[in-house]
Amino acid sequence: MTLVFDHLTLGQRVLFGTGRAAENLATEVQRLGARKVMVIASGSEAAMADAVCAGIEPALRWDEVVMHVPVEVAERARSAAAQHRIDLLVSVGGGSTTGLAKAVALTTGIPIVAVPTTYAGSEATNVWGLTESARKTTGVDDRVLPVTVIYDASLTLSLPTDLSVASGLNGMAHCIDSLWAPRADPINAALAAEGIRALSRGLPLVKAEPENFGGREQALYGAYLSAVAFASAGSGMHHKICHVLGGTFNLPHAQTHATVLPYVLAFNAPAAPEAETRAAAAFGAGNALDGLNGLRDTLDAPRALADYGFRKEDIPEVVRIALPAIPASNPRKVTAGNLSTVLAAATTGDDPKTLTDL
Ligand code: NAD
Repeated sequence: MTLVFDHLTLGQRVLFGTGRAAENLATEVQRLGARKVMVIASGSEAAMADAVCAGIEPALRWDEVVMHVPVEVAERARSAAAQHRIDLLVSVGGGSTTGLAKAVALTTGIPIVAVPTTYAGSEATNVWGLTESARKTTGVDDRVLPVTVIYDASLTLSLPTDLSVASGLNGMAHCIDSLWAPRADPINAALAAEGIRALSRGLPLVKAEPENFGGREQALYGAYLSAVAFASAGSGMHHKICHVLGGTFNLPHAQTHATVLPYVLAFNAPAAPEAETRAAAAFGAGNALDGLNGLRDTLDAPRALADYGFRKEDIPEVVRIALPAIPASNPRKVTAGNLSTVLAAATTGDDPKTLTDL
């Protein structure tokens, strides 16, 4: 069989080492020749930022961080960066914090060094997101890709176990959606498969032994791979749905991804045999859905969108916004009818297997 594809690999330095973030950041700030560093970390991330910044002298600390980056929050951070003549942004925190740094970089071109503390993976993508009037807009721009990512599993120790699980499954969603996203190719599929393997081995260890670094390192490594695969392959059906649930209904990002994923997998898998086989092998399971569901049981993962305040009455609005955005290349044809059924099952936490024969 011939192999033809067009793949773009994004350029970024990755420094990985438990307990090494402060040292790695100091080295990077020096290497980049930065003189005026703006450190972005929310209030609950401040202690981590203090530790990570022990070897540098920030010119500005910024703690106004809001999930999905409201435009007005981005504008205030941009003005502060301009006022202080900032030449390097350092984000220490989850995807919301990385997202604010990206919003500043988008209009100023100031480089970012990202120090992630969840498994969201934003640090490894050139995708930005902003929210205005309850509508989330995303775009792709290489200016927002952090020049360097510093991973340190000790920074994820304080992440509560339930949030670690949900965030890790957000990474898993990047992997699985990458297998059928519009620019899916053999390279991002290989990264996604290794991401599934690492996350499915690491997350149960995080759950069983939250203080042990071994599982957290595997999960962080898997989260990075998941994001690289996602950045390359683009958003598939799963991400288009979650984007609306987060941006318009303000549902929590990681928990929403963790809840919706088995439903999209159950819906698409019968029409995507190659992706299904690959994911099953990476899970070490007979089929991909059993692999994911087995992992979710072990992790006691989020189960129903209703648990996060989503109501069945809102399904038509999600369908109205999400349906036109779902790629035409999705393995199974998506209609208003079957999308409503997928969302209804995810709302109440029904058995995802009911969707395979839709
Ligand atoms: P988050 O950044 O909102 O963090 C959730 C909560 O956990 C926050 O209160 C945060 O302060 C806290 N927290 C973070 N790390 C912690 C730690 N180690 N210990 C204790 N508390 C900690 O959530 P998230 O899921 O990481 O990120 C979600 C956001 O990231 C969304 O806006 C999403 O759209 C965006 N995102 C973007 C991309 C992209 O490629 N652009 C990819 C993934 C996610």
